[in-house]
Order: sequence, then C-alpha cells, then structure tokens
Amino acid sequence: MKTSASSLYRTLRQRLGAWYDREARDLPWRRDVSAYHVLLSEVILQQTRVDQGMSYYHRFTEAFPTVYDLATASEDEVLLLWQGLGYYSRGRNLRRAAQIIVSDFGGELPRTLEELSRLPGVGPYTRGAILSFAYNLPFPTVDGNVYRVLSRLFALSDPIDTGAGQRVYWQLAEELLDREHPSRHNQALIELGALCCTPRSPHCPECPVQEQCEGYRRGIAETLPIKQGKTRVRPRYMYYFLVRLGEAGTTSRLLRRRGAGDIWQGLYELPLIEGGEEPLSTETLLAHPRLSALLRQLRAPRLHPQPRARAKHRLSHQQLYAELYLIEAEGLMPSSEEEEQPWLLIPEAEQERYAMPVLLTRLLEEAED
Ligand code: SF4
Repeated sequence: MKTSASSLYRTLRQRLGAWYDREARDLPWRRDVSAYHVLLSEVILQQTRVDQGMSYYHRFTEAFPTVYDLATASEDEVLLLWQGLGYYSRGRNLRRAAQIIVSDFGGELPRTLEELSRLPGVGPYTRGAILSFAYNLPFPTVDGNVYRVLSRLFALSDPIDTGAGQRVYWQLAEELLDREHPSRHNQALIELGALCCTPRSPHCPECPVQEQCEGYRRGIAETLPIKQGKTRVRPRYMYYFLVRLGEAGTTSRLLRRRGAGDIWQGLYELPLIEGGEEPLSTETLLAHPRLSALLRQLRAPRLHPQPRARAKHRLSHQQLYAELYLIEAEGLMPSSEEEEQPWLLIPEAEQERYAMPVLLTRLLEEAED
C-alpha cells in the first residue's frame, strides 16, 4: 500500500511540475522573486482575483520598492493605496509586518515558521508560500485552490472549514510535497486550482493529472470540496449623511476616521447612523437622536429627507445596505459636545486624498451623477 502511494505521489509530482513549466502564467511576482514580493503579492491576493490584485501589486511595489519604504510609510498612505481591496486590516497588518521585519530581522524576511509567525497577518498559508516560493525550502502550503485540488484528486470528504479537516489536507500536502522543487510544486497545485480545477466546471479533459484523479474517476469532482457549515450572513443597515458646508464652489464635507473594533478601521467616512439588522423607517431615521445631535452642530442646516443614493455591499459575514442623505449648512457651530472622534472639515476637491470604504465611494458617485 505504502509503495503504491509513493509511486502515485511520484507520478503526481512529475506531472504537476511538467505542466507548471509549460502552463504557468507569467505574473510579476514570479518574474522578480523575492521574499518581500511574495509577502506583498500573497497578502494582496488573499480573497482577491489575480487580475484585480495585479494593479494593487504594481501600486505597492512602485510606492514601496523595499520593505524599508513600507515600514516607514504612514497608515494613511498604505490604506489609500489599499482602497477598494477590502479587508483593510490586511493592509494595516502588512505595514506592521514590514516594521517588525526591519526592527527585528534586519530588513530580511525570516526563514523559519516560528519567526514568520511573529508577523501580523501572516498565517500558515502565507508562511508556507514565503518559505517555499521565495526560499525554495521544503514546506507545504495550502490555500483555497489547494484544498479543492487535493479533495478532488483524492476524493476526500473531510470538510475544509473545520480544524480537523484542514489538518488532513495539510498532512497530505506535506506527504505529496516535492522536496527537491518545493517552490514549483506548491505553485503548480495552486495554479492547477486557478486554471484547470476551477470551482465550477473543472476542465478535466485538459488536466495533467486526470488519470490519477479519484474524484474524476468517480464522477464526483464538482461536488468537492465539502464545507461543513455555512456562516450566517448578517444584514446591516447604514445611513450616511453628506454634509455640505459653505457656498457652491468652496464647499467642504464632514469626514471622520473610523475607530477600532469594527469593519474599516482607519478609513474615513461621512456621518453615519447605524440601523442594525432591520431597516429604519423614514420617521425613525429623521427623529434619531444622533441625527438631531449632528444637526445641532451645524449652522442653518437643511436636511433633504429623500435618499440621494442607495447601495449594497457584501462582506464575508455581513450584507450591508446603505443610503446616503444630503444636508446643506452654512457652517459648523462652535460645539460644546464631546465627540468620540473629531470631525474633519475637508474641501470637496481634497476628498480623494482620504481612503474611504468602497461602499461609500459608490454612494457618493451615484449621488453626484
Ligand atoms: Fe480537478 Fe478534474 Fe484535474 Fe481532477 S481531473 S484534478 S477534478 S481538473
């Protein structure tokens, strides 16, 4: 049994490696391989398609050619470049990781799992990617593509979203690893998942390991991998207020930086009333104490009670529904109320210097059409 498994693994390694040499996409982080580039590309590409991630990768390497440049950048600079990618904590962690690489590792990414685990936002997959892709060290790595390919190749029904199930796949990836060519092997599995063994309608007739694929042989490939539980997606209703202050041509807007403990930490946004999991009726919204408090801070405010724009946005665990309302006012009152975060008065022309959630930029674009 052991012999047949090792001969199967040998065949798979050979076929995957040869296929990767022929078919691998020419991607910028594969052209100019360094541990810093692997870190950048892997953090950017988490939850992001390659075509979308590519422009962000170029932006980051141009703005921060070395880890030292990223380490000394301000959080605002990083978030502004990150704008639109979502999962903003990844951008903040990337900058923190660069700072630790500079302060604790002399500006070079470490070469051990233990040391890499000290970098925020660098999980098991990224650690394995840095060690194998950049340093060609014999470590497996398993991302969503690899879970899918392995579960189909070996017809595994272990769920990929439980700790016990994930251990099965990591163990298998370790056994299957091509220890002579770990970089090529790991990237081949990922590339196969991206190009050939796609989530829906896998291209089995063109697959280099079709003959060895148990999922294909049993006709169950498309039913794999198995996920045990679906995460509940919570609806969240949000009401934004575009406060225009001053005369046309010299108008400013009120913005505020979001604090910690929720989505979009460190991004900027307009005054917001949260409705929770249920929509607010117009009467409830217009009588809301936070809206009254906002209006009290404005000189001669005029609230337009019809929404100027509506937008939806899906996050991993939340479905956001947002509306944008317009308030015009002559200026700000000298406020005696202590706000948890001070308002910034931003000239309209300078708004794009402040990183905002995509949902809000969409609302603003729609309102200004
Ligand atoms: Fe995936 Fe089909 Fe290849 Fe099996 S034969 S690994 S299911 S593409």
